[in-house]
Amino acid sequence: MRVGIGYDVHRLVEDRKLILGGVEIPYHLGLLGHSDADVLTHAIVDAILGAAALGDIGTHFPDTDARYKGIDSSVFLRDTVLKVTECGYQIENIDSTVVAQRPKLAPYISQMRQRLAKILEIAVAQVNVKATTAEELGVVGEGKAIVAYATVCLSQR
Ligand code: MG
Repeated sequence: MRVGIGYDVHRLVEDRKLILGGVEIPYHLGLLGHSDADVLTHAIVDAILGAAALGDIGTHFPDTDARYKGIDSSVFLRDTVLKVTECGYQIENIDSTVVAQRPKLAPYISQMRQRLAKILEIAVAQVNVKATTAEELGVVGEGKAIVAYATVCLSQR
């Protein structure tokens, strides 16, 4: 068994879509980044890479690479799974937390879990997504950014 941790933060700005866990969420702001800036998917990618001691998302998918401009982050997730599969690992489970003051994410949790499970080719029961606010504290609490944390457990196949 191997455990990994992932963390990411992206700024909320106008004229961007809000994509979390591969799901588009209706909101007047979206996350800023080179890719689609899916902060949850990025945290999960880092957790998977971390568990396999394969470095981090920035090494594998640099934001200086024009190929990744505006890209759907599920491509990163799929590639990451392929990398760890090649190393002989399989995903046991994923747990994650999205910290967002707004919008309310509860109505989209189930969709995010289903979407992530599909991309990862694992069961929905192996993917957990939680959402919480920042109690109006700090940049997340002011609605200026969204943070995500993820942990992943891999096992040797
Ligand atoms: Mg990121």
